[in-house]
Amino acid sequence: MLSLAVDAHLAGDSSAAEHFIKGADNPIIRDWTESIWGRNSPHVRPKVQTVSLTIAERIATRMPNAAEKAALHRRDGYHCRFCGLPVIRTDTRKRIAQAYPLALPWGLTNATQHAAFQAMWAQYDHLVPHSRGGDNSADNMVVTCAPCNFGRMDYLLEEVDLAHPFAREPILSTWDGLERFR
Ligand SMILES: [Zn+2]
Repeated sequence: MLSLAVDAHLAGDSSAAEHFIKGADNPIIRDWTESIWGRNSPHVRPKVQTVSLTIAERIATRMPNAAEKAALHRRDGYHCRFCGLPVIRTDTRKRIAQAYPLALPWGLTNATQHAAFQAMWAQYDHLVPHSRGGDNSADNMVVTCAPCNFGRMDYLLEEVDLAHPFAREPILSTWDGLERFR
């Protein structure tokens, strides 16, 4: 529906674009996202308790810069490297929200954010979490969806029985992260 929305927008049909964006704000998607992230998720059952590093022990730079993020998308495309969900960059979401503010709500709480844009929110996830000493090198970073990033929290892959995403090729599809909206 979001792809159809951008097609309609580019064809000059803003009312159809609005209709499709609203249609993707679906409570079933929100329920699915809520079931994955958070400490009470039934799907995330770590085998150990994590021991986080102190702030002073962590790599100083918390997140990759814009050029490093762009490089990750060139390598990983616009799909989550864990689950394959199509993802959308924050900047792209903001541009669409500027054009369609009523159809794309983005409040301060989870419940007041557009359900599909929230689930498909592109993340730059540390394979070894930052709080466990991981750095921002490309070898330690993957593009993911928000549920995979926040669902894993600061556990190592092996602590939650996740296969290393580099063991599989990135998904190639026609999904462009809605980048053509720009
Ligand atoms: Zn994912």
